Amino acid sequence: MWFTQDQRLDDNPALRLAAEADEMLCVFVVEQGWFQSRRYQYPQMGPHRWVFLQLSLSELNQRLQLHGQRLLVVYGQAEVEIGRLVERYDINRVVRARSPGTDELRQWRWLESQFPETEWCQADAATLFEDDQVAGLSRSWPMSFSAFRRLAERWVVPAVTAMPQLPNTITQQISQLTLPDWLPNARASHSMFDGGESEALRHLDCYLASDYPQTYKRDRNAIDDWDSSSKMSPWLNAGNLSARRLKQKLDEYDQQHGASDGTHWLFVELLWREYFQWLAQSIGTKLFHFQGLSEHKPLTSFYSDRFRNWREGNTPWAIVNACMRQLKETGYLSNRGRQIAASALVNELALDWRYGAAWFEYCLVDYDVASNWGNWQYIAGVGTDSRGGRHFNIDKQTELFDADGSFRARWAADAEPQPLDTLDPTGWPIAYR
Ligand SMILES: Cc1cc2nc3c(=O)[nH]c(=O)nc-3n(C[C@H](O)[C@H](O)[C@H](O)COP(=O)(O)OP(=O)(O)OC[C@H]3O[C@@H](n4cnc5c(N)ncnc54)[C@H](O)[C@@H]3O)c2cc1C
Repeated sequence: MWFTQDQRLDDNPALRLAAEADEMLCVFVVEQGWFQSRRYQYPQMGPHRWVFLQLSLSELNQRLQLHGQRLLVVYGQAEVEIGRLVERYDINRVVRARSPGTDELRQWRWLESQFPETEWCQADAATLFEDDQVAGLSRSWPMSFSAFRRLAERWVVPAVTAMPQLPNTITQQISQLTLPDWLPNARASHSMFDGGESEALRHLDCYLASDYPQTYKRDRNAIDDWDSSSKMSPWLNAGNLSARRLKQKLDEYDQQHGASDGTHWLFVELLWREYFQWLAQSIGTKLFHFQGLSEHKPLTSFYSDRFRNWREGNTPWAIVNACMRQLKETGYLSNRGRQIAASALVNELALDWRYGAAWFEYCLVDYDVASNWGNWQYIAGVGTDSRGGRHFNIDKQTELFDADGSFRARWAADAEPQPLDTLDPTGWPIAYR
């Protein structure tokens, strides 16, 4: 069982499939590539998500041990490490959650080709729907969210499943691995989220024990209010909680309290997540292309100073600065904050949206490849959205979402605005006679 974005025992179709065997090896690969600087200057994995992931894996291991299993965490390159294990233990079936990531797909195909005797199975453990429910759309993607939603609201969400009886482990034979020196120190993070299945359920139960789901539709756009939205995204994306379990709990909530706009709207937001997951699978590497799905490249340039000022929260716009400081410090930013910050990068600073997406990827504790790059494309006007991007009026957004200035004050962003560009006269090519 190759755990990836499904770090849980509850309602995990991949684990159920793997558990049909007589013996099972549970493995997670921490990839060296996550910590290396890539094309957009940053590693993929920043400190907030790394701390979250370690907590999540530690709990997964504890839970497995309660059932006579154990999680083997290996470090390196996924295809190499998985290939080694397949060879060494003569593994005849590998099961993993289906992923929309193109790197993950490339690794999977490579493994399939190198080990044709092994059965390579993917299960829909990270989404609400299953591949065969969505398969009919593959001819007509890309489509708008509204069109997707009209269809998806009629589909049946597969029922949640109980944890299977786990077979014996073969990991007893494997001694503890030493940690590689490229692994970053587990630095403390100021994130508000702790990884792991029990924390995910505890948070969800607290949320559903409150009245907040009732007011979700009204309040979900708040810029910085903990209770205005569910805050489930980090656990959903690590797979500490399945999207189906969340949907089932929302249904139970409705049965107890009566159906409400709030819970229905939460489901609609889950459909946004779903939409981006399946869209990403359908468009492959276009998710990362500058022009995305559109015919034309956006008219942008690259000013490194502007980008640095945006990243560090030193732009002329106090609300953007507050958003960027919160993101860097905590790894979380509300949906409204993400939209304002992304729109500022694309529309006010005229920068290449992919640098913004890569910075979010590094910082976000709830980073998800499909949701992050899909939302960025949407705002940059290179996604499926027929309205050609989103330009948020910063003054209006400030007035609507931080009228009393408390959000800006919290992040010390209410000081004198910074100029957009600073010119250093010594840098001008003027020759003195
Ligand atoms: C530029 C940009 C980048 C983003 N990057 C990510 C990302 O990397 N990971 C991520 O999970 N979300 C991302 N989002 C979507 C959204 O901001 C977060 O899902 C949301 O803020 C998470 O908070 P919540 O759990 O309280 O959401 P809630 O409002 O409570 O929504 C419930 C769930 O629905 C899903 N959801 C809600 N809105 C969206 C959306 N627009 N797109 C996809 N799923 C959605 C999430 O899984 C969320 O947990 C991004 C949005 C923007 C504008």
